[in-house]
Amino acid sequence: MSKYMIKLTRRPKPPELTDEVVNELTQEYKLSKSSVWNRPFIKDALMLMSHSKCAYCEVKLDHRGSNMEVEHYHPKSLYENEVVEWSNLLPSCKRCNASKGSHDTKAAPIVNPFIDDPRDHLELKQFRYNHITGIGKTTKEELNLNDVDIQRDRFLISLTASQTLEKLSNLLEQYLSGNKNSTRTRNNIVRGIEILLHEAGPESEYSAIVSTTLLSHELWTPMEEELKAQGLWSQMMEDRKNLALSTAYI
Ligand SMILES: [Zn+2]
Repeated sequence: MSKYMIKLTRRPKPPELTDEVVNELTQEYKLSKSSVWNRPFIKDALMLMSHSKCAYCEVKLDHRGSNMEVEHYHPKSLYENEVVEWSNLLPSCKRCNASKGSHDTKAAPIVNPFIDDPRDHLELKQFRYNHITGIGKTTKEELNLNDVDIQRDRFLISLTASQTLEKLSNLLEQYLSGNKNSTRTRNNIVRGIEILLHEAGPESEYSAIVSTTLLSHELWTPMEEELKAQGLWSQMMEDRKNLALSTAYI
């Protein structure tokens, strides 16, 4: 199930993937067409770069590997020499990988989240992606980012985040009015906001939906300002909010 896409940072290739190993595996692929990229050191290094999420849709990938696939940005069927080229490999879910298939990314590029910021090419309107650029259009189509099931999932995730924020905002109001002016209430508010901000961070599943929902919600800024006025806004919250801003489509 595809959700939103966020910018990722590629790390250096795993030390096991020496030039010699790349050559051997590439030759082996050319001869046998076997899945030479299915090595734990490749898969583990890819998972580490995306917080164990699909690079295209942010779905959590199973560490056992059942729904994790090594995706070739430039398709292996057309570009055999890049079959274990580190810069060509991405962690992906089965759905995105299958949807993209052998689309020729050299003829018609799609967003590569390790190179491009997806927000330069796509925007979100009512749980649908609109393209801003030609690359965005191809990405949307090749990864089938607007199918109905996906839109429903986005809606539900967004709804949960807004409802939590609304509850916390209400609780803060009661705390300030003196109705529930206890340390326990205060701690629940602080803890609740910390959890929401964690869910909006790049290591969480569907972070882009949660961060977009939170930071564009009409209650967010008043909530943040009130927490600051009450001395309840910590440096950790500030850091987490900045991380959330790095994934939000706002
Ligand atoms: Zn995916």
